[in-house]
Amino acid sequence: MQDFDAIVVGAGAAGLFCAGVAGQRGLRVLVLDHSEKVAEKVRISGGGRANFTNRELDPQAPHKHFISANPHFCRSALSRYTPADFVDLVQRHGIGFHEKHKGQLFCDRSAEDLIQMLLRECEAGGVERWQPCGVKAVRRGGDGRYELDTERGTVRSRAVVVATGGLSIPKIGATDFGYRIARQFDLRLVEQRPGLVPLTFDGDAWMPYAGLAGLALPVRIETGDKKSRMAFMEDLLFTHRGLSGPGVLQISSYWQEGSPIRLNLSPEGDLQAALARAKTTSRKLLVNELAALVPSRLAEAWVQQDPDWQRPVAEASDKALARLAERLARWEITPTGTEGYKKAEVTLGGVDTRDLSSQTMESKQAGLYFIGEVVDVTGWLGGYNFQWAWASAHACAQAL
Ligand SMILES: Cc1cc2nc3c(=O)[nH]c(=O)nc-3n(C[C@H](O)[C@H](O)[C@H](O)COP(=O)(O)OP(=O)(O)OC[C@H]3O[C@@H](n4cnc5c(N)ncnc54)[C@H](O)[C@@H]3O)c2cc1C
Repeated sequence: MQDFDAIVVGAGAAGLFCAGVAGQRGLRVLVLDHSEKVAEKVRISGGGRANFTNRELDPQAPHKHFISANPHFCRSALSRYTPADFVDLVQRHGIGFHEKHKGQLFCDRSAEDLIQMLLRECEAGGVERWQPCGVKAVRRGGDGRYELDTERGTVRSRAVVVATGGLSIPKIGATDFGYRIARQFDLRLVEQRPGLVPLTFDGDAWMPYAGLAGLALPVRIETGDKKSRMAFMEDLLFTHRGLSGPGVLQISSYWQEGSPIRLNLSPEGDLQAALARAKTTSRKLLVNELAALVPSRLAEAWVQQDPDWQRPVAEASDKALARLAERLARWEITPTGTEGYKKAEVTLGGVDTRDLSSQTMESKQAGLYFIGEVVDVTGWLGGYNFQWAWASAHACAQAL
Protein backbone atom coordinates (compact mmCIF):
# COMPACT_ATOMS: atom_id res chain seq x y z
CA MET A 1 0.00 0.00 0.00
CA GLN A 2 1.39 3.42 -0.92
CA ASP A 3 2.21 5.60 2.03
CA PHE A 4 2.25 9.43 2.13
CA ASP A 5 2.87 12.14 4.71
CA ALA A 6 -0.26 13.94 3.58
CA ILE A 7 -3.14 13.20 1.22
CA VAL A 8 -5.07 16.21 -0.02
CA VAL A 9 -8.55 15.49 -1.35
CA GLY A 10 -9.58 18.15 -3.89
CA ALA A 11 -7.29 19.72 -6.48
CA GLY A 12 -8.93 23.12 -6.37
CA ALA A 13 -7.59 26.45 -5.15
CA ALA A 14 -6.93 25.46 -1.54
CA GLY A 15 -5.92 21.86 -2.20
CA LEU A 16 -3.31 22.61 -4.87
CA PHE A 17 -1.83 25.47 -2.90
CA CYS A 18 -1.62 23.41 0.29
CA ALA A 19 -0.07 20.46 -1.56
CA GLY A 20 2.59 22.67 -3.17
CA VAL A 21 3.61 24.36 0.08
CA ALA A 22 3.67 21.06 2.00
CA GLY A 23 5.64 19.34 -0.77
CA GLN A 24 8.21 22.11 -0.75
CA ARG A 25 8.60 21.61 2.99
CA GLY A 26 9.81 18.11 2.16
CA LEU A 27 6.62 16.13 2.74
CA ARG A 28 5.50 13.27 0.47
CA VAL A 29 2.16 14.59 -0.72
CA LEU A 30 -0.61 13.06 -2.84
CA VAL A 31 -3.39 15.29 -4.16
CA LEU A 32 -6.36 13.65 -5.79
CA ASP A 33 -9.55 14.88 -7.38
CA HIS A 34 -12.53 13.07 -8.90
CA SER A 35 -12.64 15.54 -11.80
CA GLU A 36 -10.63 15.11 -14.93
CA LYS A 37 -9.76 18.80 -14.98
CA VAL A 38 -7.82 20.58 -12.29
CA ALA A 39 -9.13 23.68 -10.44
CA GLU A 40 -12.22 24.21 -12.56
CA LYS A 41 -13.56 26.91 -10.27
CA VAL A 42 -10.38 28.91 -10.57
CA ARG A 43 -10.72 28.59 -14.34
CA ILE A 44 -14.23 30.09 -14.45
CA SER A 45 -13.67 32.61 -11.66
CA GLY A 46 -13.72 36.35 -12.11
CA GLY A 47 -15.16 36.02 -15.61
CA GLY A 48 -12.16 33.84 -16.63
CA ARG A 49 -9.57 36.19 -15.13
CA ALA A 50 -9.71 35.06 -11.47
CA ASN A 51 -10.12 37.82 -8.94
CA PHE A 52 -7.44 36.13 -6.86
CA THR A 53 -7.23 38.42 -3.82
CA ASN A 54 -8.25 41.79 -2.45
CA ARG A 55 -5.95 44.55 -1.24
CA GLU A 56 -8.59 45.92 1.14
CA LEU A 57 -8.71 42.77 3.23
CA ASP A 58 -8.06 43.66 6.86
CA PRO A 59 -6.79 40.58 8.74
CA GLN A 60 -7.25 42.36 12.05
CA ALA A 61 -10.96 42.87 11.36
CA PRO A 62 -11.98 39.81 9.36
CA HIS A 63 -15.66 40.15 10.24
CA LYS A 64 -15.75 43.10 7.82
CA HIS A 65 -15.36 40.84 4.80
CA PHE A 66 -16.08 37.31 6.03
CA ILE A 67 -19.19 35.53 7.26
CA SER A 68 -18.94 32.70 9.77
CA ALA A 69 -20.64 31.59 12.97
CA ASN A 70 -17.31 32.67 14.48
CA PRO A 71 -16.04 35.56 12.33
CA HIS A 72 -12.80 35.76 14.34
CA PHE A 73 -11.77 32.20 13.46
CA CYS A 74 -10.19 33.25 10.16
CA ARG A 75 -8.07 36.02 11.67
CA SER A 76 -5.01 33.92 12.49
CA ALA A 77 -4.61 32.33 9.06
CA LEU A 78 -5.46 35.54 7.19
CA SER A 79 -2.91 37.55 9.13
CA ARG A 80 -0.15 34.96 8.65
CA TYR A 81 -0.67 34.69 4.90
CA THR A 82 -1.82 38.02 3.50
CA PRO A 83 -2.86 39.34 0.09
CA ALA A 84 0.66 40.83 -0.19
CA ASP A 85 2.17 37.35 0.27
CA PHE A 86 0.04 35.94 -2.53
CA VAL A 87 0.79 38.92 -4.78
CA ASP A 88 4.46 38.22 -4.16
CA LEU A 89 4.01 34.65 -5.40
CA VAL A 90 2.06 35.79 -8.47
CA GLN A 91 4.84 38.27 -9.28
CA ARG A 92 7.54 35.64 -8.83
CA HIS A 93 5.75 33.62 -11.51
CA GLY A 94 5.69 36.65 -13.81
CA ILE A 95 1.90 36.77 -13.99
CA GLY A 96 0.53 40.17 -14.98
CA PHE A 97 -2.38 41.49 -12.92
CA HIS A 98 -4.37 44.64 -12.38
CA GLU A 99 -6.63 46.22 -9.78
CA LYS A 100 -10.22 46.71 -10.85
CA HIS A 101 -12.61 47.95 -8.23
CA LYS A 102 -12.35 48.27 -4.45
CA GLY A 103 -8.98 46.49 -4.14
CA GLN A 104 -9.89 43.53 -6.39
CA LEU A 105 -6.87 42.00 -8.18
CA PHE A 106 -7.39 40.10 -11.46
CA CYS A 107 -5.02 38.31 -13.85
CA ASP A 108 -4.31 40.41 -16.94
CA ARG A 109 -4.54 37.44 -19.26
CA SER A 110 -6.39 34.47 -17.90
CA ALA A 111 -7.14 32.43 -14.79
CA GLU A 112 -5.25 29.65 -16.56
CA ASP A 113 -2.02 31.48 -15.62
CA LEU A 114 -2.94 31.07 -11.97
CA ILE A 115 -3.68 27.35 -12.42
CA GLN A 116 -0.33 26.84 -14.13
CA MET A 117 1.33 28.65 -11.23
CA LEU A 118 -0.35 26.34 -8.69
CA LEU A 119 0.72 23.30 -10.72
CA ARG A 120 4.31 24.53 -10.97
CA GLU A 121 4.36 25.02 -7.19
CA CYS A 122 3.17 21.42 -6.81
CA GLU A 123 5.85 20.21 -9.21
CA ALA A 124 8.50 22.11 -7.24
CA GLY A 125 7.34 20.18 -4.18
CA GLY A 126 7.35 16.81 -5.95
CA VAL A 127 3.61 16.44 -5.34
CA GLU A 128 1.94 13.40 -6.84
CA ARG A 129 -1.44 14.14 -8.46
CA TRP A 130 -4.09 11.58 -9.34
CA GLN A 131 -6.96 12.71 -11.57
CA PRO A 132 -9.63 11.61 -12.14
CA CYS A 133 -9.65 9.62 -8.93
CA GLY A 134 -12.58 9.44 -6.54
CA VAL A 135 -12.41 8.45 -2.91
CA LYS A 136 -14.71 5.61 -1.92
CA ALA A 137 -14.02 5.44 1.81
CA VAL A 138 -11.87 6.98 4.50
CA ARG A 139 -11.06 5.23 7.77
CA ARG A 140 -8.62 5.52 10.62
CA GLY A 141 -6.52 2.52 11.48
CA GLY A 142 -5.48 1.40 14.94
CA ASP A 143 -2.11 3.14 14.53
CA GLY A 144 -3.91 6.48 14.04
CA ARG A 145 -3.06 6.61 10.34
CA TYR A 146 -5.74 7.19 7.73
CA GLU A 147 -6.54 4.76 4.93
CA LEU A 148 -8.34 5.95 1.82
CA ASP A 149 -9.96 3.55 -0.62
CA THR A 150 -9.60 5.35 -3.92
CA GLU A 151 -10.45 4.40 -7.49
CA ARG A 152 -6.73 3.65 -7.90
CA GLY A 153 -6.38 1.48 -4.83
CA THR A 154 -5.93 2.01 -1.12
CA VAL A 155 -3.45 4.62 0.10
CA ARG A 156 -2.29 5.50 3.58
CA SER A 157 -1.20 8.68 5.32
CA ARG A 158 -0.80 10.20 8.76
CA ALA A 159 -2.63 13.34 7.60
CA VAL A 160 -5.68 13.90 5.39
CA VAL A 161 -6.56 17.38 4.16
CA VAL A 162 -10.13 17.83 2.97
CA ALA A 163 -10.19 20.58 0.33
CA THR A 164 -13.30 19.60 -1.62
CA GLY A 165 -14.92 23.03 -1.53
CA GLY A 166 -18.62 23.84 -1.33
CA LEU A 167 -21.78 22.80 -3.13
CA SER A 168 -22.01 25.51 -5.76
CA ILE A 169 -21.91 24.63 -9.47
CA PRO A 170 -22.44 20.86 -9.24
CA LYS A 171 -21.94 20.49 -12.98
CA ILE A 172 -18.22 21.16 -12.61
CA GLY A 173 -17.69 18.67 -9.82
CA ALA A 174 -18.91 20.14 -6.54
CA THR A 175 -19.94 17.46 -4.02
CA ASP A 176 -20.82 17.17 -0.35
CA PHE A 177 -17.79 14.94 0.27
CA GLY A 178 -16.26 17.29 2.84
CA TYR A 179 -19.43 17.50 4.90
CA ARG A 180 -19.89 13.72 4.79
CA ILE A 181 -16.35 13.15 6.06
CA ALA A 182 -16.90 15.73 8.79
CA ARG A 183 -20.04 13.91 9.90
CA GLN A 184 -18.31 10.51 9.74
CA PHE A 185 -15.65 11.80 12.15
CA ASP A 186 -18.16 13.43 14.53
CA LEU A 187 -17.44 17.02 13.60
CA ARG A 188 -20.23 19.56 13.76
CA LEU A 189 -21.56 21.35 10.68
CA VAL A 190 -23.10 24.77 10.23
CA GLU A 191 -26.09 24.51 7.90
CA GLN A 192 -25.17 25.20 4.30
CA ARG A 193 -26.94 27.54 1.89
CA PRO A 194 -26.03 29.24 -1.38
CA GLY A 195 -24.20 32.58 -1.11
CA LEU A 196 -23.21 35.25 -3.64
CA VAL A 197 -26.28 34.21 -5.61
CA PRO A 198 -28.95 36.02 -7.67
CA LEU A 199 -32.29 36.54 -5.92
CA THR A 200 -35.57 35.47 -7.51
CA PHE A 201 -39.10 36.84 -7.30
CA ASP A 202 -42.24 35.01 -8.37
CA GLY A 203 -45.70 35.90 -9.43
CA ASP A 204 -47.60 39.14 -9.82
CA ALA A 205 -45.36 41.18 -7.54
CA TRP A 206 -42.55 40.84 -10.08
CA MET A 207 -44.65 41.65 -13.17
CA PRO A 208 -43.96 45.42 -13.23
CA TYR A 209 -40.20 44.77 -13.30
CA ALA A 210 -40.02 41.73 -15.58
CA GLY A 211 -39.49 43.96 -18.63
CA LEU A 212 -36.37 45.50 -17.12
CA ALA A 213 -34.18 42.42 -17.70
CA GLY A 214 -30.69 43.49 -18.74
CA LEU A 215 -30.82 46.90 -17.07
CA ALA A 216 -27.88 47.68 -14.76
CA LEU A 217 -27.52 50.67 -12.45
CA PRO A 218 -25.65 51.66 -9.27
CA VAL A 219 -27.74 51.28 -6.12
CA ARG A 220 -27.57 51.15 -2.37
CA ILE A 221 -28.93 47.80 -1.22
CA GLU A 222 -29.55 46.60 2.30
CA THR A 223 -31.17 43.85 4.33
CA GLY A 224 -31.62 42.92 7.98
CA ASP A 225 -33.11 44.70 10.95
CA LYS A 226 -31.55 47.41 13.12
CA LYS A 227 -29.17 44.97 14.80
CA SER A 228 -28.16 42.93 11.76
CA ARG A 229 -28.39 45.55 9.01
CA MET A 230 -25.93 45.12 6.14
CA ALA A 231 -25.67 47.49 3.18
CA PHE A 232 -23.65 47.73 -0.03
CA MET A 233 -23.18 50.43 -2.67
CA GLU A 234 -22.77 48.40 -5.84
CA ASP A 235 -24.33 47.76 -9.22
CA LEU A 236 -27.70 46.05 -9.59
CA LEU A 237 -28.74 43.99 -12.61
CA PHE A 238 -32.34 43.16 -13.46
CA THR A 239 -32.75 39.62 -14.82
CA HIS A 240 -35.73 37.72 -16.20
CA ARG A 241 -36.35 36.01 -12.89
CA GLY A 242 -35.19 38.66 -10.46
CA LEU A 243 -32.15 40.62 -9.42
CA SER A 244 -28.44 40.02 -9.80
CA GLY A 245 -25.23 42.07 -10.14
CA PRO A 246 -22.54 42.61 -7.51
CA GLY A 247 -24.82 44.45 -5.05
CA VAL A 248 -27.36 41.64 -5.02
CA LEU A 249 -24.72 38.89 -4.83
CA GLN A 250 -23.18 40.60 -1.79
CA ILE A 251 -26.51 41.11 -0.02
CA SER A 252 -27.64 37.54 -0.81
CA SER A 253 -25.05 36.18 1.64
CA TYR A 254 -26.77 38.13 4.43
CA TRP A 255 -30.37 37.78 3.27
CA GLN A 256 -32.63 35.55 5.39
CA GLU A 257 -35.51 33.76 3.71
CA GLY A 258 -38.80 35.61 4.09
CA SER A 259 -37.26 38.97 4.87
CA PRO A 260 -37.23 41.96 2.51
CA ILE A 261 -34.38 43.77 0.82
CA ARG A 262 -34.41 47.55 0.51
CA LEU A 263 -32.95 49.44 -2.42
CA ASN A 264 -32.20 53.05 -3.18
CA LEU A 265 -32.31 53.18 -6.97
CA SER A 266 -30.90 56.70 -7.07
CA PRO A 267 -28.35 56.75 -4.27
CA GLU A 268 -26.32 59.69 -5.54
CA GLY A 269 -28.94 62.40 -5.93
CA ASP A 270 -31.85 63.99 -4.08
CA LEU A 271 -34.74 62.85 -6.27
CA GLN A 272 -37.43 64.65 -4.35
CA ALA A 273 -35.68 68.02 -4.65
CA ALA A 274 -34.94 67.45 -8.34
CA LEU A 275 -38.57 66.59 -9.12
CA ALA A 276 -39.85 69.54 -7.09
CA ARG A 277 -37.54 71.81 -9.09
CA ALA A 278 -38.74 70.29 -12.37
CA LYS A 279 -42.35 70.93 -11.37
CA THR A 280 -41.75 74.69 -11.32
CA THR A 281 -39.68 74.90 -14.50
CA SER A 282 -40.64 72.09 -16.89
CA ARG A 283 -43.48 71.39 -19.28
CA LYS A 284 -42.39 67.84 -19.93
CA LEU A 285 -44.09 64.63 -18.88
CA LEU A 286 -42.99 63.42 -15.47
CA VAL A 287 -41.54 60.29 -17.06
CA ASN A 288 -39.19 62.41 -19.20
CA GLU A 289 -37.98 64.41 -16.22
CA LEU A 290 -37.47 61.19 -14.29
CA ALA A 291 -35.50 59.74 -17.19
CA ALA A 292 -32.93 62.49 -16.67
CA LEU A 293 -32.38 61.25 -13.12
CA VAL A 294 -32.53 57.45 -13.48
CA PRO A 295 -32.15 55.15 -16.53
CA SER A 296 -35.02 55.78 -18.94
CA ARG A 297 -36.18 52.14 -18.97
CA LEU A 298 -36.50 52.28 -15.21
CA ALA A 299 -38.38 55.59 -15.40
CA GLU A 300 -40.83 54.17 -17.94
CA ALA A 301 -41.52 51.01 -15.93
CA TRP A 302 -41.80 52.93 -12.69
CA VAL A 303 -44.42 55.49 -13.73
CA GLN A 304 -46.69 52.64 -14.90
CA GLN A 305 -47.31 51.83 -11.26
CA ASP A 306 -49.41 54.92 -10.51
CA PRO A 307 -51.72 56.99 -12.78
CA ASP A 308 -50.67 60.11 -10.83
CA TRP A 309 -47.18 59.66 -12.29
CA GLN A 310 -48.35 59.49 -15.90
CA ARG A 311 -48.86 63.21 -16.53
CA PRO A 312 -46.82 66.38 -17.08
CA VAL A 313 -44.60 67.06 -14.10
CA ALA A 314 -46.12 70.54 -13.67
CA GLU A 315 -49.55 68.92 -13.10
CA ALA A 316 -48.37 66.31 -10.61
CA SER A 317 -49.20 66.99 -6.99
CA ASP A 318 -46.39 67.53 -4.50
CA LYS A 319 -47.59 64.41 -2.74
CA ALA A 320 -47.40 62.30 -5.92
CA LEU A 321 -43.85 63.51 -6.60
CA ALA A 322 -42.79 62.85 -3.02
CA ARG A 323 -44.32 59.36 -3.23
CA LEU A 324 -42.46 58.64 -6.46
CA ALA A 325 -39.13 59.81 -5.02
CA GLU A 326 -39.73 57.83 -1.85
CA ARG A 327 -40.56 54.64 -3.74
CA LEU A 328 -37.38 54.84 -5.80
CA ALA A 329 -35.21 55.68 -2.81
CA ARG A 330 -36.79 53.08 -0.53
CA TRP A 331 -37.94 50.24 -2.74
CA GLU A 332 -38.69 47.34 -0.47
CA ILE A 333 -39.27 43.93 -1.98
CA THR A 334 -39.19 40.39 -0.62
CA PRO A 335 -37.35 37.77 -2.68
CA THR A 336 -39.09 34.41 -2.95
CA GLY A 337 -35.78 32.57 -3.18
CA THR A 338 -32.39 32.37 -4.84
CA GLU A 339 -31.07 30.81 -8.04
CA GLY A 340 -29.59 28.09 -5.81
CA TYR A 341 -26.32 26.19 -6.05
CA LYS A 342 -26.42 26.07 -9.83
CA LYS A 343 -25.68 29.83 -9.93
CA ALA A 344 -24.19 30.52 -6.47
CA GLU A 345 -20.51 31.47 -6.33
CA VAL A 346 -20.08 30.08 -2.84
CA THR A 347 -21.60 27.96 -0.09
CA LEU A 348 -22.30 29.56 3.27
CA GLY A 349 -21.88 27.35 6.34
CA GLY A 350 -19.81 24.18 6.38
CA VAL A 351 -17.50 22.50 8.85
CA ASP A 352 -18.06 24.17 12.21
CA THR A 353 -15.00 26.17 13.24
CA ARG A 354 -15.55 25.13 16.87
CA ASP A 355 -14.17 21.74 15.87
CA LEU A 356 -11.12 23.15 14.04
CA SER A 357 -7.90 24.82 15.15
CA SER A 358 -7.65 28.35 13.78
CA GLN A 359 -3.85 27.97 13.80
CA THR A 360 -3.58 24.77 11.78
CA MET A 361 -7.04 23.88 10.40
CA GLU A 362 -6.70 20.49 12.10
CA SER A 363 -9.97 19.11 13.37
CA LYS A 364 -10.50 17.56 16.77
CA GLN A 365 -9.68 14.26 14.99
CA ALA A 366 -5.88 14.32 14.99
CA GLY A 367 -4.48 14.31 11.46
CA LEU A 368 -7.73 15.35 9.76
CA TYR A 369 -7.67 18.89 8.35
CA PHE A 370 -10.23 21.04 6.51
CA ILE A 371 -9.30 24.04 4.35
CA GLY A 372 -10.94 26.45 1.89
CA GLU A 373 -14.63 26.76 1.23
CA VAL A 374 -15.67 23.52 2.98
CA VAL A 375 -15.04 25.36 6.26
CA ASP A 376 -17.70 27.70 7.67
CA VAL A 377 -15.87 30.80 6.44
CA THR A 378 -17.32 32.70 3.48
CA GLY A 379 -15.90 35.86 2.00
CA TRP A 380 -17.48 38.78 0.25
CA LEU A 381 -17.40 39.02 -3.50
CA GLY A 382 -14.10 40.52 -4.64
CA GLY A 383 -11.28 38.00 -4.17
CA TYR A 384 -11.91 37.30 -0.48
CA ASN A 385 -12.86 33.66 -1.02
CA PHE A 386 -9.63 32.87 -2.84
CA GLN A 387 -7.62 34.67 -0.17
CA TRP A 388 -9.28 32.44 2.42
CA ALA A 389 -8.40 29.39 0.29
CA TRP A 390 -4.72 30.47 0.10
CA ALA A 391 -4.46 31.48 3.76
CA SER A 392 -6.16 28.41 5.23
CA ALA A 393 -4.13 26.16 2.91
CA HIS A 394 -0.91 27.86 3.98
CA ALA A 395 -1.70 27.58 7.70
CA CYS A 396 -2.46 23.89 7.22
CA ALA A 397 0.63 23.18 5.09
CA GLN A 398 2.87 24.72 7.77
CA ALA A 399 1.37 22.40 10.37
CA LEU A 400 1.32 19.10 8.46
C1 LIG B 1 -18.56 31.24 -11.13
C2 LIG B 1 -17.68 31.48 -9.93
C3 LIG B 1 -16.81 32.54 -9.92
C4 LIG B 1 -16.00 32.79 -8.81
N1 LIG B 1 -15.14 33.85 -8.84
C5 LIG B 1 -14.36 34.10 -7.77
C6 LIG B 1 -13.41 35.16 -7.79
O1 LIG B 1 -13.21 35.82 -8.83
N2 LIG B 1 -12.69 35.40 -6.66
C7 LIG B 1 -12.83 34.64 -5.51
O2 LIG B 1 -12.17 34.91 -4.52
N3 LIG B 1 -13.69 33.59 -5.49
C8 LIG B 1 -14.43 33.30 -6.59
N4 LIG B 1 -15.29 32.24 -6.56
C9 LIG B 1 -15.28 31.36 -5.36
C10 LIG B 1 -14.05 30.46 -5.41
O3 LIG B 1 -13.97 29.84 -6.66
C11 LIG B 1 -14.10 29.40 -4.31
O4 LIG B 1 -14.38 29.99 -3.08
C12 LIG B 1 -12.78 28.64 -4.24
O5 LIG B 1 -12.52 27.99 -5.46
C13 LIG B 1 -12.80 27.65 -3.10
O6 LIG B 1 -11.61 26.92 -3.13
P1 LIG B 1 -11.56 25.41 -2.61
O7 LIG B 1 -10.23 24.92 -2.95
O8 LIG B 1 -12.05 25.36 -1.22
O9 LIG B 1 -12.65 24.66 -3.49
P2 LIG B 1 -12.64 24.41 -5.07
O10 LIG B 1 -11.76 25.37 -5.76
O11 LIG B 1 -14.08 24.35 -5.45
O12 LIG B 1 -11.98 22.97 -5.24
C14 LIG B 1 -12.60 21.81 -4.76
C15 LIG B 1 -12.06 20.64 -5.55
O13 LIG B 1 -12.50 19.45 -4.93
C16 LIG B 1 -12.92 18.54 -5.91
N5 LIG B 1 -13.88 17.61 -5.31
C17 LIG B 1 -15.13 17.85 -4.93
N6 LIG B 1 -15.70 16.74 -4.46
C18 LIG B 1 -14.78 15.76 -4.55
C19 LIG B 1 -14.77 14.37 -4.23
N7 LIG B 1 -15.88 13.79 -3.72
N8 LIG B 1 -13.65 13.66 -4.46
C20 LIG B 1 -12.56 14.25 -5.00
N9 LIG B 1 -12.51 15.53 -5.33
C21 LIG B 1 -13.60 16.29 -5.10
C22 LIG B 1 -13.51 19.38 -7.00
O14 LIG B 1 -13.50 18.71 -8.25
C23 LIG B 1 -12.58 20.59 -6.98
O15 LIG B 1 -11.50 20.45 -7.87
C24 LIG B 1 -16.07 31.94 -7.67
C25 LIG B 1 -16.92 30.84 -7.70
C26 LIG B 1 -17.71 30.60 -8.81
C27 LIG B 1 -18.61 29.40 -8.81
